[in-house]
Amino acid sequence: MDALDILTDLENVIPFFQPIFSADEQRVIAYEVLGRYQSEGSIISLGSFFHDDSIPEEYKFEVDQLLVQKALERALKLDDDVSIYLNRDADLLMYRHGEPFLQDLLAFEKRGLNLKRIVLEISEGNYKGDFGQLDHLLQYYRTYGIKVAIASIDSDTNFFERIGQLGPEIIKINLRALKSNATAASFTDVLFSLSLLARKIGATLLFENIEMSYQLQFAWKNGGRYYQGFYLYPPSSEFIERDLLKQRLKGKFHEFITYEKKKLEAIYSAAEFFQNKVQDIIVKNKKANYEVLFTSLIKEMDQIAFRMYVCDEDGFQKSSNMFKGESGWYSQKEYIEKNWSWRPYFLENIIKMRNEGKGILSDLYSDIETGETIRTFSIPINGSDYLFIDISYKYLFENEQLL
Ligand code: CA
Repeated sequence: MDALDILTDLENVIPFFQPIFSADEQRVIAYEVLGRYQSEGSIISLGSFFHDDSIPEEYKFEVDQLLVQKALERALKLDDDVSIYLNRDADLLMYRHGEPFLQDLLAFEKRGLNLKRIVLEISEGNYKGDFGQLDHLLQYYRTYGIKVAIASIDSDTNFFERIGQLGPEIIKINLRALKSNATAASFTDVLFSLSLLARKIGATLLFENIEMSYQLQFAWKNGGRYYQGFYLYPPSSEFIERDLLKQRLKGKFHEFITYEKKKLEAIYSAAEFFQNKVQDIIVKNKKANYEVLFTSLIKEMDQIAFRMYVCDEDGFQKSSNMFKGESGWYSQKEYIEKNWSWRPYFLENIIKMRNEGKGILSDLYSDIETGETIRTFSIPINGSDYLFIDISYKYLFENEQLL
């Protein structure tokens, strides 16, 4: 489609709306506005028009302005708690210092559209301008109640930094990257950090491009409050009934919850199993030194563990590492007196174990030395010392509910 065709035929530039659903209410809470052009019965996306560097900014602005006006005109008829997401390329946003766009929004505010319902989806992909000015403009918009969503996680190395700088209300995560299990593992880890960050700064996670059930499950499991994608509803020229998917989403959540509860029960049982087994061995070796304790543990847990050591409650290591290498278990003395209090959750776990008088099975994480996905079982052994047993990937794999 030629840019000129579009510019000379603006009445056929129309907004499409893709509903965004919330997990807490299981209904439509927003629409993202997408640009479309209709010609001879077919409808094409204006995405390539807006991304085309050879088209002058003022033409893009003109088409965009029209789209926004048409979309907001329609939005006046929506319930007044439904938000409108507008895609804003950073260059477009900075067009004439963002003033004409703001004036358009203010005109709609006068007609009853609360600007708190406007969410700007910022994409900074090719932005070469001054980020200070961009951020300044966004802060200015926010004084009107307008919200900011920052989009895309793929390959954007500045993403975490930008989230820190902008403090967006919404973080949009594209699930297109989640197509195979190969990408899933590392993607999950990045997402986990992102969900912690979002929680810290009070941002909401919105997952987009949900195209299959497992992607919805992934979004639900990873702290996603808002969902969008073809699996739920495609972009359309019309708004939909807000509760259209309520029953279906409830059904899906029921599935996810059942599965997750089963998994958590299994992890709880495993923790109990380790507790009983290890406690037994500790009691039997109450008077013995740590070398003897390790010998007993190895006898019982050779197929379960690959590393064990003892720390005091400040994280100073009181024993060698007992490590299972290619040719069996051996002692690594160089670990004595190392300190582990800096590790995430270390002191929290010590306090928990001390107060509850029992062990803890950790979450899944990558072992720094072996790179394997493992869990650690830790347990108090006397007034001041704590035993740590690293559970091998092989064992977790054989007991797959632990993975
Ligand atoms: Ca978008």
